[in-house]
Amino acid sequence: MMDVQEFEKWAKQIVEWISQYYQTIETYPVKPKVTPNTILEKLPINPPSQSESFEEIFNDFSKIILPAITHWQHPRFFAYFPANNSFPSILGELFTAAIAPQCMMWLTSPAATELEERVMDWLRQMIGISEEFVGVIQDTASTSTLVSLLTAREKHSNYFINENGSGGSKFTVYCSYEAHSSIEKAVKIAGIGRKNLKKIPVDENFSMRVDLLEEQIKSDIQNGFQPLCVVGALGTTSSTAIDPLKQIGEIAKQYGLWYHIDGAMVGSALILPEFDKIKEGINYADTFVFNPHKWLFTNFDCSAYFVKDKKALIKTFEITPEYLKTDADRQVNNYRDWGIQLGRRFRALKLWFVIRTFGVEGLKQKISSHLQWAKLLEKEIQKDGRFEILAPVNFNTICFRYEPKGRSEEEIEELNRKLFNTINDSGFAFFSHTKLKGKFAIRFSIGQTNTNWEHIAQTWEFIRGKTSELWENVEKKKI
Ligand code: PLP
Repeated sequence: MMDVQEFEKWAKQIVEWISQYYQTIETYPVKPKVTPNTILEKLPINPPSQSESFEEIFNDFSKIILPAITHWQHPRFFAYFPANNSFPSILGELFTAAIAPQCMMWLTSPAATELEERVMDWLRQMIGISEEFVGVIQDTASTSTLVSLLTAREKHSNYFINENGSGGSKFTVYCSYEAHSSIEKAVKIAGIGRKNLKKIPVDENFSMRVDLLEEQIKSDIQNGFQPLCVVGALGTTSSTAIDPLKQIGEIAKQYGLWYHIDGAMVGSALILPEFDKIKEGINYADTFVFNPHKWLFTNFDCSAYFVKDKKALIKTFEITPEYLKTDADRQVNNYRDWGIQLGRRFRALKLWFVIRTFGVEGLKQKISSHLQWAKLLEKEIQKDGRFEILAPVNFNTICFRYEPKGRSEEEIEELNRKLFNTINDSGFAFFSHTKLKGKFAIRFSIGQTNTNWEHIAQTWEFIRGKTSELWENVEKKKI
């Protein structure tokens, strides 16, 4: 067991460790060299029956866990989208872990509820969307999208399905082929049925074709379906494409569809005035989500969900057994009724710490540099001449591939997969991939808190070097 003296000793050591970790993080391989199940083999099959010393536990953390961690906070982590953090966010999480409140309703932690209300309105102002939106923190964008779809389902069925089940409903949902898989997941879970998710083709920029959206809605109505909801993408996962948000909004209005916008990654960029045009489109939506845990330096999990019809949201989720009723219920937000979980973490605290420590200007500066570096890198890639950029660089992500002349599509894909694996296995930097118009693409996503231009430039030189080596081997017929 650990007493308070022991706690204090270790807490000091661990805070020192964290500070060292950030000072030496570049010495770690971004992606560990481990094969499946090797960690499991090092962990005892049965739990310890007697207390172990924290020294032993800490040693095992250093020996077993740390070498098998993918370092998301490494400044050469360029994979997926970031899940970044910052020192004030870490401090916020420390307090949250220490106080450990369960924030299901106002009474169970009044400050947590009221801080969440205030901080979510700060965020709303920062991204410049309509005052009609009210915010609540969900764990993830996937949950937010599910919450949105369930609210749509209930509002459109006049709260029938909550009472009677969804048997026989003929709802259809729409998103583009490039939209995130969480929409498909939400459609499955919400009882709408995967086959009733209509994926709309995209144009050459990977944005939804609104003409085809309207065609599909009309045809579904003719065939006796009930179009329920359309999900617009503000920054698709593959290439950060933007759907025509305003036009989708107009169609949603015309045909009476619920409109949700998924801005999981890119939503944070709305704090910059250069994206003011996009906000017009968002104001057409019923709900909007973006993740401060992706690109607002607030560690996972923290998803900002905005909704206009708060009553519909609450009516969909509220359930108040006697033991949860309180005298304050009429005057306050009880966030347990704003989503799926009853118990909730105190997530607003870290966000409050982050916004105050950076200041809105500081946050703008960080995001703005990521965007400038993405443009700079795009130019470097073009300058090299051996690579193809496969999608417009709208924000922080560049999708490219090596394109040796005179090779078939299959050979090009094979070479790119080799290049991709060589880079990732090196531990120097970490990337993820996608396919765009059938072409294998390496995604270079810039958004880690401590990344600077040097990290990007070094990594680009590294990729160019590995590409030359690869080509030499091809010419020597080693590949
Ligand atoms: N939507 C988009 C566009 C995403 O890129 C992602 C994840 O990368 C998600 C949704 C899911 O986010 P979360 O992990 O918060 O559920």
